[in-house]
Amino acid sequence: MAEACLRSGRQTEDVRLIAVTKYLNLQQTGEVLALGVKDLGESRVQDAAEKLEAFGHRATWHFIGHLQSNKVKQVVGAFAYIHSLDRLSLAEEIQRRSLQLGRPSRCFLQVNVSGEVSKFGIDPKNLLDFVEKLSSMDHVHVVGLMTMAPKTSQVEEVRPYFRALARLQKSVQALRIPTITAEHLSMGMSQDFEVAIEEGATMIRVGTALVGNGVDA
Ligand SMILES: *Cc1c(COP(=O)(O)O)cnc(C)c1O
Repeated sequence: MAEACLRSGRQTEDVRLIAVTKYLNLQQTGEVLALGVKDLGESRVQDAAEKLEAFGHRATWHFIGHLQSNKVKQVVGAFAYIHSLDRLSLAEEIQRRSLQLGRPSRCFLQVNVSGEVSKFGIDPKNLLDFVEKLSSMDHVHVVGLMTMAPKTSQVEEVRPYFRALARLQKSVQALRIPTITAEHLSMGMSQDFEVAIEEGATMIRVGTALVGNGVDA
C-alpha cells in the first residue's frame, strides 16, 4: 500500500484498509482484531451475525456483499457502511429502515464498470439517472462509488476499470446533491489493490492476501 501511494504521489493515510473477514470463523476474526485492524468487511448477513455480536463495538463494519432487501433491517445500524447499493428498491428499503432508526446510512453505489453479466452493479450509463432518483432520499447518504474489476492474471488490465470509476465519481459530484458527496472510491482487492490505489482508491477491500481464506490459518 505504501509503495503504491509513493508511486502515485498519495498519502498513506488517505487509503483505508478494510480486512475482509468473510472467509474466517469467529476465532480467526478475533485474531485479526487483536492485531489492531479497525475496519472489517463481511459479505453475508448470516455469517456476520455472530461476529457482530461478539465484536460489534471493536470494529467499523463494512457490508460488501450483495444485499437482499429483506436483510436490510439487520444491516442498517449494525454496519457503518454499505458498499453494495445497486438498485432503487434497495435504496427505498434502506431509506425506510434508516428513517425508523433515526440515523442516515452511509452507502456506496456499486457500479458494474466492466459490464460483465455475472456482476452486480449499476450500468454506468444509468448512474446519473439513478443518483437523481436518490436525491430525495434524505436517509441514504452516498459517500462513494464501489466496483469490482474482472479477475485476470494481467493486473494492468484492470486499470481502465478503476480509472473509469474515478471519472464517474467526478460526474456524480458535479451534480452537487447534498446527500450524495461520493468522496470515496471503494476499489481494489487482493489481486489488484496496488493499481486501485494508483487510480485513486480511498478504501481497499482485502481478504485473501491479508488475512487468508480461513482454510490454513
Ligand atoms: C471477497 C471480497 C473481497 C476480498 O477478496 P480477496 O480477493 O480475498 O481480497 C473484496 N470485495 C468484495 C465485494 C468481496 O466479495
